[in-house]
Amino acid sequence: RAKAHGRGGYVVFDETMHKQVRSRLWLGNSLRYAVKAIEQGQNPFLLQYQPIFCLRQQRLIGFEALLRWHHPQQGLISPEKFIPVAEETGLIIPLGQWVLKAACQQLAVWEQEFSVPLTMSINVSSQQFLQPNFVQSVESLMQSHQLAGHHLKLEITETVLMESTHYVTDRLEQLQNLGISLSLDDFGTGYSSLNYLYNLPINTLKIDRSFVWGIGQGQDQIVKTIIALAHGLEMNVVAEGIETIEQMQYLHTLGCELGQGYWFARPLQPEAAQQVIATLSSPMSLSLPIAE
Ligand code: C2E
Ligand code: MG
Ligand code: MG
Ligand code: MG
Repeated sequence: RAKAHGRGGYVVFDETMHKQVRSRLWLGNSLRYAVKAIEQGQNPFLLQYQPIFCLRQQRLIGFEALLRWHHPQQGLISPEKFIPVAEETGLIIPLGQWVLKAACQQLAVWEQEFSVPLTMSINVSSQQFLQPNFVQSVESLMQSHQLAGHHLKLEITETVLMESTHYVTDRLEQLQNLGISLSLDDFGTGYSSLNYLYNLPINTLKIDRSFVWGIGQGQDQIVKTIIALAHGLEMNVVAEGIETIEQMQYLHTLGCELGQGYWFARPLQPEAAQQVIATLSSPMSLSLPIAE
């Protein structure tokens, strides 16, 4: 077959495809073992916590929980790589449930330890969000950890909003009735229709980092427009991926309420995140950004 095509690009393409398929299969299989290991007490997953700040007061508001997979041979594998595979294989359901539980547990521990209000933002995949018992499972976690709903923020993406509107609206309202706040993550990168943005009960828009990186690069109008849109719809705004003081100041000038990014702090191990709470919850210190 290869001969018939001479020395053209066909063979190369074919091999690349095989490689991709193999690595996908490999990833799917290892992920299955890894998720199984959670129940067997050998959990290879962990959460890191990235601080989120109020831009006006430069004050710590809370954290976003970000999933990592510690693979014995490959080291830390990025969620960008394994979340899509988890979604394709359905493994995102047990994995997402573990994330929810672990993040709630951590928040409860910090709330006991420190008497400052903190929020925990948790990423939720569409599939997970659409599970029939999703709201119940969130509610029961809130109860068992005695968490107030307004300390929890669930981050969903635009793909959720593509599903049947009634079902999604009901679900979002049920969560809001628990006091939980809802964020639309990676805003501007998906298939947003302004129509459902207008009609759905969403509290917060998260500006995708790609737009934040466009600040000062001739793309200032994009963040400006997103912020104006959010405020026009009575939503607040979180900017992710803030890496420079210029980006931070520009976003603040435009009235963007909250922000996260390497300029403030990277995603941190729980101990380091706890240090941040301890340091920043004392009113005397405003020593940003935070070194790792
Ligand atoms: P996301 O929810 O949009 O999370 C923000 C991502 O931006 C994180 O990448 C974070 O580390 C990164 N980030 C924040 N500030 C900066 C910055 O200043 N510079 C740069 N270069 N990056 C920054 P991460 O942790 O690799 O996660 C990637 C994506 O994986 C997340 O994007 C989210 O979509 C998904 N993800 C992570 N954890 C979970 C989870 O528990 N469940 C689900 N369903 N998805 C998750
Ligand atoms: Mg997120
Ligand atoms: Mg995001
Ligand atoms: Mg993003």
